[in-house]
Amino acid sequence: MDRRHFLSAFAAAGLLGGCTTIRPALVAGQVGGACLPRVMVSPERVIRTIAGLRPYRPSGFVVRAEPLGGTLVVHNYGHGGGGITLSWGTASLATEIGLPAREGAVVVLGAGIAGLTTARLAQERGRQVTIYAAALPPDTTSNIAGGQIVPASVFEREHVDAAWLAQFEAACAFTWHRWQLLTGSDTGVRWLATYDEGTRPPSSPTMARFMAGREVLSAADSPFGRPVSRYQTMYVEVGRFLRYLTAEFLASGGRIVVRRFATPQDVAALPERLVFNCTGLGSHHLFDDAHLGPKRGQLAVLLPQAEIDYAYMLGGYMFPRADGILLGGTWEQGQWDAVTTPEGIARIMATHTRVNSQACMA
Ligand SMILES: Cc1cc2nc3c(=O)[nH]c(=O)nc-3n(C[C@H](O)[C@H](O)[C@H](O)COP(=O)(O)OP(=O)(O)OC[C@H]3O[C@@H](n4cnc5c(N)ncnc54)[C@H](O)[C@@H]3O)c2cc1C
Repeated sequence: MDRRHFLSAFAAAGLLGGCTTIRPALVAGQVGGACLPRVMVSPERVIRTIAGLRPYRPSGFVVRAEPLGGTLVVHNYGHGGGGITLSWGTASLATEIGLPAREGAVVVLGAGIAGLTTARLAQERGRQVTIYAAALPPDTTSNIAGGQIVPASVFEREHVDAAWLAQFEAACAFTWHRWQLLTGSDTGVRWLATYDEGTRPPSSPTMARFMAGREVLSAADSPFGRPVSRYQTMYVEVGRFLRYLTAEFLASGGRIVVRRFATPQDVAALPERLVFNCTGLGSHHLFDDAHLGPKRGQLAVLLPQAEIDYAYMLGGYMFPRADGILLGGTWEQGQWDAVTTPEGIARIMATHTRVNSQACMA
C-alpha cells in the first residue's frame, strides 16, 4: 500500500471513526479556487536523483523486548514508509518497555531517526547512552525520506491484530504531539497545506489528527482541476533535523561509535544490559527477520523554489524543502538495490509534469 492509497484503504477497512470537518484558514496565496504557484518540472532543474529502501513489514513495526542472555534487547524497527512520522511514538513505546526493566547505561543500535529519537528519550529519562551504528547521517535511509508527518505505507490491515493496532494508536498520539513541539527553522519542521487525491473522509481520531483542518475541494474549486482534499500537516527537512538531534544527543553527554554488528551474540557481548535495536532494514540480517524487506522509493530533486508553500500527493508526491523540491512516487517491493532507474525517474518526471500542466497553476 503506498503513501497516497493508505488513507482511503484505512477508511475502507473500517478503522476510521467519525470525523468532524473543520474549515481551515485559507492557504497563503490562495483564495477559493485561485491558482497556486507552479512547480517548474524540467530535466534541467533536477539537481539530484536518489533512492532509498523503506524498511517494510506487512505486519507493521516491531516494538517488543527479547532477552538475549543477560541482556534485554528492545526492538524498534520496521516502520515502512512512516518511520519519520512514527519515530517519537515508537521510541516512546520502546523506552517505556526497556527503561523500567534495566537500570544503568544503555546502548542504541542505529543512528537513523528511530535510533536518535530513542536515544534522546532515554537521555531525557536520565540515562547515559551510547549509539553504535554502521553508518551515520547523512548516510542513512532516514536522510532520504521526504519527511511528511503522516503514517503512510506502514502495514497491511489483514496482517495486524488488535494488540499491534493499539501500539500504532499510542505511537501516533505521542508522535503527533511531540512533532508539534519541534517546529522551527533550527529543526526544519514546519506546517504546510497539502493537496491529496484522497477525498473519502478519514474518520478516526487517530488518522484525522494527521490531516488538520481537512476539507474536500470540488473540481471547480481545486487548483488541480479535479476533486482533492486539502489539509495541514507537518514536514521535516530530515537532514537538518538529524543534525539537530545528533547535536542535542552529543551535548547531553551521548557517545557515538561507528560499528557494524554481524550477530546477536556480538550485541549480547556489550557490557550494557539494555540495548535498543533501531537498525531499520538491518534487522533483516542482524535479527533474522524474514518478514522485513525493502520497499524502494526513488526521488528526483529539483532546484528549490521559495514560492512553493504547499505540498501535494496526486499520483506522486511533491514536498517543497529548502534543500530542493522533492518529487517522488515509487513503492517497489523487494528491490534491495538503493539505486535509481531511468524508467523510475522518467515516470516520476512525467507524473509531475502532468500535475503541473493544469491551467490553474500560475
Ligand atoms: C523515498 C522515501 C521517502 C520516505 N518518505 C517518508 C515520509 O515522507 N514520511 C515518513 O514518515 N517516512 C518516510 N520514509 C520512511 C523512512 O525513511 C523510514 O521508515 C525511516 O527512515 C526508518 O528509520 P530507521 O532509523 O529505522 O532506519 P535507518 O534510517 O535506515 O537507520 C538504521 C541505522 O541502523 C544502522 N544499522 C543497520 N544495520 C546495522 C548493523 N548490523 N550494525 C550496526 N548498525 C546497523 C544503520 O547504519 C543506520 O544508522 C521514506 C522512505 C523513503 C525511502
